[in-house]
Amino acid sequence: MNAPTLPLHPEILSYPAPAALLQALSERFGAQYSAALVAREQHGRDESAFTVPPPAAVVFAERTQDVADAVKLAAQFKVPVIAFGVGSSLEGHLLAVQGGISIDVSRMNAVLAINAEDLTVTVQAGVTRKQLNEAVKSTGLFFPVDPGADATLGGMAATRASGTNAVRYGTMRENVLALEVVTAQGEVVRTGTRAKKSSAGYDLTRLMVGSEGTLGVITEVTVRLYPLPEAVMAATCSFDSLASAVIGRHLHRRTRRWPSQDGLSSAGGRRRGHRHDARHQTGAGPRQPHESGQDICPPANAFLIPIGLDAPVATDNASASGAALRPLH
Ligand SMILES: Cc1cc2nc3c(=O)[nH]c(=O)nc-3n(C[C@H](O)[C@H](O)[C@H](O)COP(=O)(O)OP(=O)(O)OC[C@H]3O[C@@H](n4cnc5c(N)ncnc54)[C@H](O)[C@@H]3O)c2cc1C
Repeated sequence: MNAPTLPLHPEILSYPAPAALLQALSERFGAQYSAALVAREQHGRDESAFTVPPPAAVVFAERTQDVADAVKLAAQFKVPVIAFGVGSSLEGHLLAVQGGISIDVSRMNAVLAINAEDLTVTVQAGVTRKQLNEAVKSTGLFFPVDPGADATLGGMAATRASGTNAVRYGTMRENVLALEVVTAQGEVVRTGTRAKKSSAGYDLTRLMVGSEGTLGVITEVTVRLYPLPEAVMAATCSFDSLASAVIGRHLHRRTRRWPSQDGLSSAGGRRRGHRHDARHQTGAGPRQPHESGQDICPPANAFLIPIGLDAPVATDNASASGAALRPLH
């Protein structure tokens, strides 16, 4: 085995956990438990540049009861727990700055219920957004929140993830309907429902979304689904400044018109772009033939993906208003 036997960052001290806790975790979880350095170091970092102590041990949860048992044991010994999705966080979320044990939920990756008729899906927290979209592909629906990384739905809910599609579809704040959560005492609670109309009591779903693992470990997530757009269009818009990009986008949302050579003149959004059938985006069908660079007008329900707002203009249609659009290819 290629497991390192020395710490990757020997200058960093790690916080030991009580031996009795590690013994209890080992007995309860068997092969689902690891105190090996390689596992601890893998779970003690994310995509950020920080290096700090790894957790004292890792529990690989396979069901909600595993999470509850691990949290209860850690609570008995007053040791922190750190939920782990796939570690795509950019902000040092996963670093064991106070020591603790990591609870990896990535094995909890079952899609529990696809409710195509009411546009919702319920998954275990370790399902990633790509796995989710693969699972719902045949329904003609998709889950649009895309933070770039193939993150878990639990991690995305915990960090209230956004991404490229947020302007049109919202972030996790708008798209999480219900959760199952293991609280700090190891209690399993359910927040929210699939029903849109619900105004009774505290909105614990909103409290948990964005709580970054500090209020509990999310074990199930119910989110909204959307119809796949009939067409997808990609375009590059270049603006002189951040302010003009923001104003251009804002005007488009209000008027459904895009800046062009003569400013905001072309009603219906006529501009240079590249359009392809949504089936191409999901890999479900062949790309539609299209003459690249042709002026096109998207259908009302087309989905425009702006790419590279800061990219330099490389076309002959640089505009007086500072905005130009060019085909991708
Ligand atoms: C290239 C790249 C681009 C990115 N772009 C964006 C972006 O545009 N917008 C954006 O919002 N994010 C972006 N991110 C950040 C990243 O995608 C999010 O942090 C992601 O939502 C984290 O999910 P994860 O499964 O990797 O969680 P992890 O990184 O494993 O964990 C992140 C945090 O969530 C907690 N957590 C994880 N799972 C659970 C759970 N089941 N219950 C409770 N707490 C949990 C962890 O304890 C930790 O605090 C980007 C990341 C990368 C690598």
